[in-house]
Amino acid sequence: MLKLNGKGVYGAVATGKISVFKRQEAQVRRIHVEDTAAELFRVDAAKKKASEQLSAIYEKALKEVGETNAQIFEIHMMMIEDEDYNESIQSIIENQSVNAEYAVAVTSDNFAEMFSSMDDAYMQARAADVKDISNRIIACMAENGGSDNGSDDKVIICADDLAPSETVSLDKEKVLAFVTAHGSSNSHTAILARNMNIPAIIGVGDELLEKIKDGDMAAVDGYTGEVFIDPDEKTLAEITAKQKSDLEKKELLKSLKGKENITLDGTKVNIFANIGSVDNIGAVLVNDAGGIGLFRSEFLYLENSDYPTEEQQFQAYKKVLESMAGKKVIIRTLDIGADKQVDYFSLDKEENPALGFRAIRICLTRPDIFKTQLRALFRASAFGNLGIMFPMITSVSELEKILAICDEVKAELKESNIEYSEKTEIGIMIETPAAAIISDRLAPMVDFFSVGTNDLTQYTLACDRQNPKLEEFCDTHHEAILRLIEMSAKNAHANGAWIGICGELAADTTLTETFLRMGIDELSVSPSYVLKLRDTVRNINLSK
Ligand code: PEP
Ligand code: MG
Repeated sequence: MLKLNGKGVYGAVATGKISVFKRQEAQVRRIHVEDTAAELFRVDAAKKKASEQLSAIYEKALKEVGETNAQIFEIHMMMIEDEDYNESIQSIIENQSVNAEYAVAVTSDNFAEMFSSMDDAYMQARAADVKDISNRIIACMAENGGSDNGSDDKVIICADDLAPSETVSLDKEKVLAFVTAHGSSNSHTAILARNMNIPAIIGVGDELLEKIKDGDMAAVDGYTGEVFIDPDEKTLAEITAKQKSDLEKKELLKSLKGKENITLDGTKVNIFANIGSVDNIGAVLVNDAGGIGLFRSEFLYLENSDYPTEEQQFQAYKKVLESMAGKKVIIRTLDIGADKQVDYFSLDKEENPALGFRAIRICLTRPDIFKTQLRALFRASAFGNLGIMFPMITSVSELEKILAICDEVKAELKESNIEYSEKTEIGIMIETPAAAIISDRLAPMVDFFSVGTNDLTQYTLACDRQNPKLEEFCDTHHEAILRLIEMSAKNAHANGAWIGICGELAADTTLTETFLRMGIDELSVSPSYVLKLRDTVRNINLSK
């Protein structure tokens, strides 16, 4: 047995076989081949398989999101047959005597670069499409493509690190646990693991991938951060005992379903859930959350190979609102950039992406994208109890611009006789020190604040949330952060606004009493933390 140590970011345990995450690009190597005809045959076979896959996806999309949105897959099918694209692959294989994967990858890069350099925004967006179809063809050529272990067994995914887009694209039904060599606990990948309710360990170090291989048996303890490779019987028995105790605790917490979030002295608080996808709603309902405090809408963009259309977004938001049947649903507008990169946005590489062009800064610079999302949101507002929230706010003037665009969108909808709810609440995230410090100015302009402690911590303490080396300096309980939250709560209430917390700190039960004493009205956490938090709240006495 070999024991490795990392940092547990979701407390749960699992045992099973390891599947080493294979990144698509890493599989493409330039290999000299003698039999170029065989390579051409492999390309043809892979193209056929890719077209079949796309045709199935097209049919599914047609039923689920309508013809306009499904068209992109038709375009992909056409691109696979494009003469220039195919001639390029063929000539690279024949002239350079190289393997098919390499020829497809080079063609993909060349075509993507050509599309990106065009003036027309539509053509620029095709760069992502050509990469997408090329990756699909390469995956079809691989015996064991992507992270899919090729069987129906659930596996423990081990990776150097996972980007948010990679995490969302994993088949969640097949993942028992995540273990990564790098990464930090406030990264979006860690957040996604928590949302998926599975044990997750990060920062094991380079030895993780040096010492394991596909198919190794492992036991993962997300409480202690320990990973046991080829565990002995004693360890397996301990992990199984923890698994049993987890199940018992879950059963106990179930008895809290339907109960109020009320302290011993009668103070009530809303406990809502954070989600990143329409698929998470089941977990929200099962865990009896009072609403959705944060729907990270950017995952709709991350899951797509092109800008999601207004209709596509409208359907997704409407589904969430209808499923929540009148309970509050707060949808945050696009927060792309920094660690959440989407190819088709073609964002420039930046020296300091966390301090760069992200979130509302992109939306205010690209009003076409922003207005499409706002139209979808306001249209969906007619189907439930919606709150719209804006990320990364730093100034009054930004908020003035946002509110003016909201008014414009509402006026356009009214003009076209499209229904929306006038009761839609408007809120902002308090996730920069600037927003907290001027919260007295911002509060009169909105209905609510939601504190994003993940970013508020990184910006207040100057600690990149992606950098695992900074974990020890990144004290989430730092007095400066607590003071900024308290200041924001006072200013919200003094101006008739309510305030919630939707960053990971909301789930830290050692701070729940502190937050309630500050007057925080709502705590929004991963669905699986809702009942545990309810239990904590019900044992707090604020009158003491
Ligand atoms: C936050 O910053 O605390 C937050 C909730 O937003 P995200 O983690 O998506 O940046
Ligand atoms: Mg944030």
